[in-house]
Amino acid sequence: MRADKSSSPQPPGAMVIPTENAFRPRIDGNAGDEAGTLRILIVDDDPSLRRTFPHVLARPGRMFDECGSVAEAIVRLECQCYALILLDYRLPDANGLALLDWLSEHRRDEAVIIISGEDAIDAAIGALRGGADDYVRKPYHVAQLQRAVDGALHKGALERANTLMSQRLKDSERLHRYLVESSPDMIFTLDGSGRFTYINPRVRALLGYERSTLIKRPFTTLVMPEDIDRIDTLLSQPSSLPGESFNVELRLRCRREGGEGGNVTVSLTGIPMVTQQDDRRVVGLYGVARDISERKRAEEIISFQAYHDQLTHLPNRVLFKDRLELAIAQAQRRTGALAVMFIDIDRFKLVNDTFGHAEGDLLLRAIANRLSATLRRGDTLARLGGDEFTVLLPDINQPEDAEVIARKVLDALATPVALSQGEFRATVSVGVALFPRDGTTAEDLTRHADAAMYQVKRSGKNAFRFFDPSLNARHRDRIALENDLRNALARHELELFYQPQVSMAAHSIVGLEALLRWNHPTIGPIPPTTFIQVAEEVGLIGEISNWVIETACAQLASWQAGGQATPRVSVNLSACDFQRGDVVATINASLARHGITPDCIEVEITESLMMNDTADVAAKVRALRAAGISVAIDDFGTGYSALAYLQKFPVSTLKIDRSFVRDLEGPMTNPIISAITGIARGFELDLVAEGVENAEQADALRALGCEVMQGYLFARPAPADEALAWLRHPERLFHAAGVLM
Ligand code: C2E
Ligand code: MG
Ligand code: MG
Repeated sequence: MRADKSSSPQPPGAMVIPTENAFRPRIDGNAGDEAGTLRILIVDDDPSLRRTFPHVLARPGRMFDECGSVAEAIVRLECQCYALILLDYRLPDANGLALLDWLSEHRRDEAVIIISGEDAIDAAIGALRGGADDYVRKPYHVAQLQRAVDGALHKGALERANTLMSQRLKDSERLHRYLVESSPDMIFTLDGSGRFTYINPRVRALLGYERSTLIKRPFTTLVMPEDIDRIDTLLSQPSSLPGESFNVELRLRCRREGGEGGNVTVSLTGIPMVTQQDDRRVVGLYGVARDISERKRAEEIISFQAYHDQLTHLPNRVLFKDRLELAIAQAQRRTGALAVMFIDIDRFKLVNDTFGHAEGDLLLRAIANRLSATLRRGDTLARLGGDEFTVLLPDINQPEDAEVIARKVLDALATPVALSQGEFRATVSVGVALFPRDGTTAEDLTRHADAAMYQVKRSGKNAFRFFDPSLNARHRDRIALENDLRNALARHELELFYQPQVSMAAHSIVGLEALLRWNHPTIGPIPPTTFIQVAEEVGLIGEISNWVIETACAQLASWQAGGQATPRVSVNLSACDFQRGDVVATINASLARHGITPDCIEVEITESLMMNDTADVAAKVRALRAAGISVAIDDFGTGYSALAYLQKFPVSTLKIDRSFVRDLEGPMTNPIISAITGIARGFELDLVAEGVENAEQADALRALGCEVMQGYLFARPAPADEALAWLRHPERLFHAAGVLM
């Protein structure tokens, strides 16, 4: 090869994206045309010889050009490449060596055979040194010339094939290098002792290291100390598992200007590199690390949200229950005791109503801080909601210990709390229940502590009291409620209300949520939040849910029979419906009985359902979807919304919880709603915002990418005949909401 312009290196720093053409092999030196013709140039001043050569050398695919001097030869070579030149040594304008020099200067590939009458060996040596491929002396045998020509052409063909091959190799190498070096993932190889042998430039953008500084350094220098043990085990393992790849989540250290700079969470896939030989020894590791910190952050925000109260950042009801159950199990094992305290702020409603919600929030935060400061490290203070707090004291020896702490709690509030509108002397009522004396389950202990607190309220507030079963009015209420609920269905006391879900973009009603109402004969309407849990605990929920499904289908059928086009109706199901009974068959039977198509129904489930998949809930969700029934996750964002669950449970809709909409002005909420809209978009799910009460919330939601809404702004839940009026005149909902059509 005399020249290869295509492989000249790229200017540093300019990674040009290779086009398809750049990787296509190039036929170097156009010695033959596409059809494989081989061109031979005869340079001889004897015209009779020039005529003879083509006769004796003719073969299929060979073409001959001829000329009589070096100058003419150069003219031809300037516009044509040849596979071979038959060159007379002695020519009228110069000797053959001059042409050899020209070829060499111009980095040409032509094979050259010198044909000469010179006797002197020097001429032959000079010619071969000058780059000729062969030397044939006149007079020659035809066979001898033919051999020399065949030989030179064969050699040329080999050279061209070789050039082509190495060009292809270079192109392929360049393509692979490009793929690796411009990968958005960090790609590296380690040697057998876990040291870097290669790392792609991504490491600089991702972690801030120059790659040259990492070569020969152990991989573990990049790993956060907490994760080193885990990765060490994996790095030492591949030798026992040749060919087995592994995948882990790791935190890698960042290096930023002026020293250390945090870390990045990556998902690392490691593939052991083994020798080609039979022994397949592990000689290193090939690794790909993908930056998943954004995903982690979204998950962390949502998961913190799931277990903590937004206002005080204290554990919420879910986390409290979890810790309490754990503490009960431990206390049972060591036959120890524990206490649950229920704390309710006295006259809190007064503060809220007189000074406004902002002051109320300030007071709640101040009290949360005071209470936290009085407790020990192992105790858990939680906010259940509103002005209710609970405390878990996991480690007490006798009731007096709990009494000491209860007094401390009361004392902690002796100093007034500074609110922006003046000082407020806050007091609390505290109820205490002890394990095992007052109960052995989390529910019982909390309920009994609550009952004790209630006693304090009734007898003058600002004190504490231990649970006393004989005075437990709430307890008695609960028993009565259970009994009444057992009869509610038979006495036709249940009713479905409907609330519209509207599309702001289409200005239409896209759904109706069916919400259960209990019209109690003496107490009056009882909200579902009060009695659904009771129904679940006493095992009535299955019957109630069947009634809800059946009633919703019957209602749809009746509307449709009256010629009314209907949107989808959503029904709320409880976790128990998925854990017992065959919810899919129940719904299908109701649909069939009323001649309703499955796309008319949506089922709302809660995130907690997805967490415990013992009864194969995922399969039931899949069966519902396969039957054409939509499935929504209700109150999304308040439970454990791990993205992994969304992959396993193929739901169709997310309902943004009311609490996020209510706090739309709050500092943490916009990122959360953005995260949820992002999740919905990513998983291609429908999105509905719940509890939209005013136009500002509606505008903010639209700006954040959620346009289907449900809430008092449009309509409160109402009986079926009112819902029919909305369906007939949806424009009235928008007028009422002050939304222009
Ligand atoms: P959900 O499914 O999240 O229903 C939405 C709740 O928010 C309803 O309360 C509704 O009246 C209320 N709501 C709607 N718009 C607004 C608003 O703009 N502001 C405010 N503050 N609230 C609004 P409701 O009817 O009291 O139902 C409470 C919960 O009871 C429901 O929450 C659902 O979890 C459960 N539930 C209702 N019906 C059934 C049912 O048939 N079966 C089961 N298992 N649970 C039900
Ligand atoms: Mg719902
Ligand atoms: Mg909801």
